[in-house]
Amino acid sequence: MENSQSNQPLVTYSSSSAPVWQLRVAVATPQHAGLAGALDYQHHEALAPGQLLRVPLGRREVLGVVWACDAREPDPEAPALKPVSTVLPLPPLDAGWRALIEFGAGYYQRGLGEFALAALPIGLQQATPEQLQRRLARPPAKRRSAAAPAPIAAVAPPPLNAAQQQALAAVAAQLDLPQGAPRPPMLLWGVTGSGKTEVYLHAAELALARGAQVLVLVPEINLTPQLEARFAARFGAEQIVTLHSGLSPAQRLRHWIAAHSGQARLVLGTRLAVLASLPRLGLVLVDEEHDASFKAQDGARQSARDLAVLRAAQAGVPVLLGSATPSLESWHNANAGRYLRLAMPERINDAPMPRIRLLDLAQLPRKSGPGAPQPPIAQPLLDAIEQRRLRGEQSLLLLNRRGYAPVLHCGACAWKSGCPNCSAWRVFHKSDRTLRCHHCGLSEPVPRRCPDCGNADIAPVGRGTERLAEQIADWLPEARVLRLDADTTKAVGSLEAGLAQVHDGSIDVLVGTQMIAKGHDFRRVSLVAALNPDTMLYSSDFRAPERLFALLLQAAGRAGRAGGGGEVWIQTDQPRHPLFQALLRQDYAGFAAQQLEEREMAGLPPYASLALLRADSRDEAGGRDFLAACAAAGEALGLDGLSWYPPVPHPIAKVANQWRWQMLVESAQRAALQRALRAWMPEVLRLARQHRQVLRWAVDVDPAGI
Ligand code: ADP
Ligand code: ZN
Ligand code: ZN
Repeated sequence: MENSQSNQPLVTYSSSSAPVWQLRVAVATPQHAGLAGALDYQHHEALAPGQLLRVPLGRREVLGVVWACDAREPDPEAPALKPVSTVLPLPPLDAGWRALIEFGAGYYQRGLGEFALAALPIGLQQATPEQLQRRLARPPAKRRSAAAPAPIAAVAPPPLNAAQQQALAAVAAQLDLPQGAPRPPMLLWGVTGSGKTEVYLHAAELALARGAQVLVLVPEINLTPQLEARFAARFGAEQIVTLHSGLSPAQRLRHWIAAHSGQARLVLGTRLAVLASLPRLGLVLVDEEHDASFKAQDGARQSARDLAVLRAAQAGVPVLLGSATPSLESWHNANAGRYLRLAMPERINDAPMPRIRLLDLAQLPRKSGPGAPQPPIAQPLLDAIEQRRLRGEQSLLLLNRRGYAPVLHCGACAWKSGCPNCSAWRVFHKSDRTLRCHHCGLSEPVPRRCPDCGNADIAPVGRGTERLAEQIADWLPEARVLRLDADTTKAVGSLEAGLAQVHDGSIDVLVGTQMIAKGHDFRRVSLVAALNPDTMLYSSDFRAPERLFALLLQAAGRAGRAGGGGEVWIQTDQPRHPLFQALLRQDYAGFAAQQLEEREMAGLPPYASLALLRADSRDEAGGRDFLAACAAAGEALGLDGLSWYPPVPHPIAKVANQWRWQMLVESAQRAALQRALRAWMPEVLRLARQHRQVLRWAVDVDPAGI
């Protein structure tokens, strides 16, 4: 066989009759590898930009996207380019998608290929062309029969009230603007229960009626199955696909293809959905736009909210950002007239807002003398919970700490349950009697005696949700108590099962972390209590007050949704703190004004643009030295208006025996920061190759906190 082949004339495509096409292909090479945005390949025919294909890379075959395609005169001197392995039978990714990816990669300082390929479903890498062809031909699951096309509106919507009509009119006006006309992003500022979701549904209907696709972003899809249900009830499930990390690779591929091919008209997803291929995108909706979950904490660390706004602007379509407590960035943009503010200050049908009560812990009698630990729940609050129970109403108790107790302590020698690998305490979990580190995952049985002095009397200090639920059950023996947090909802379906119990009234008191504060429409909950919000008040994170205010107002929105009499109790040592005072008045605007003033004085976002360079190292000095060298290299660029700060340890300085460091770059101007980062990154790459102790590093543009 080999002989017969060697006698064949060499077949090349470089003869004049069949030109070689040179392709620039985006493939997943990390920026750290130092490769430029795309690699060159050759093919025997022209391929459209956006075409998906497989190409050889090293010894593997990888997924790629054609970024450019040129006819090329064969150059006998140049080494031959590798040929494309397989062209995938899918329509090319359109120019809008490619423009979004180019912007995102540039803005977040990532390689084009890294950013582009991270936006594609993993299933695309394995699927055979035949499988893809079948997928494309077969409509997504749950399709209606072709004979009976479902009407767009499957459930009749309620008539909108005046505020809703105004908001909808703004969306409608933008939908009908001519191509290229400016469309300022719309900020739908509506209190909980003001009917924001109803506005989304109507807005989506308008866009769908114009033949467009609608992208709906939600912070955490697991917490908002209701939203999917409401869209499905209105438009029929067959119009909708979801995109989130809870899908299997096969489901995600199927949903992605449905969006890419235009079969799915409504795409409802978490932050990853903002980069979906949507060839007929006509409207973008972002629910709870302030939510921190929109910011990715790994990969390119992009903000899906910011990319949504950018994507809408690039595509020339309206974007509606909804929240009861907008991010200070969006609020600032609205104040400056860059965003259009649409206010819905009243609840639907004049339902009263819940009453907020501050419970001054300092005023409460202490358990036994001064210095004794505070009771976790003040007696008046406990009485109120019991009264609600007797009336058949539910109470929701929030504690932002899971486990039984955050630390174990030996009274004899002052030993504490530290983690040997991290600069953190290990948390006592009573249900399986373990000490667990929430940072590195180290889990060990609770020691019977103090490991240092042998004392048998080691005691939990403080309290997490597990202990709180136990104590409530002790104090209110009649109450049916349920705990929902990351520990009790690990098993598939357990969260849904727990939520179902709340909805059907088979529990009286729900204890949980902020997981239960968001979004849920609990009809029977009439009392919400935040038990230790002060811990967030004293956080070093500059966004902590904004987060706390949003969380508490959001939690308040869970109280009394079905009628009047909703109450929110806040236990605090600082009842006169301006944050709690604004909360008492449910005065988001006042709170935002005060926060913005503080941010302006401190030179923090939105009055400054920030980037963090993070580095982890095996030894304590490695990351610090690398970042110090990077800061010096930044300084040496000699750019005006840039500040390069020295490295500081991450708030949790050591995790899993790796030291974590970060350094801050700051500028008053976003564009100046972007220019500086572009000039700086090659230096950072060069220094990273020199500093071998650095295990990993990443730049984080617009970090969530510093
Ligand atoms: P939000 O998203 O602002 O919390 P929702 O859109 O969920 O508010 O509305 C709260 C409740 O009021 C929902 O049960 C919704 O069905 C109902 N609702 C919304 N708009 C109207 C309306 N115009 N007329 C009657 N009920 C409405
Ligand atoms: Zn001891
Ligand atoms: Zn640890």
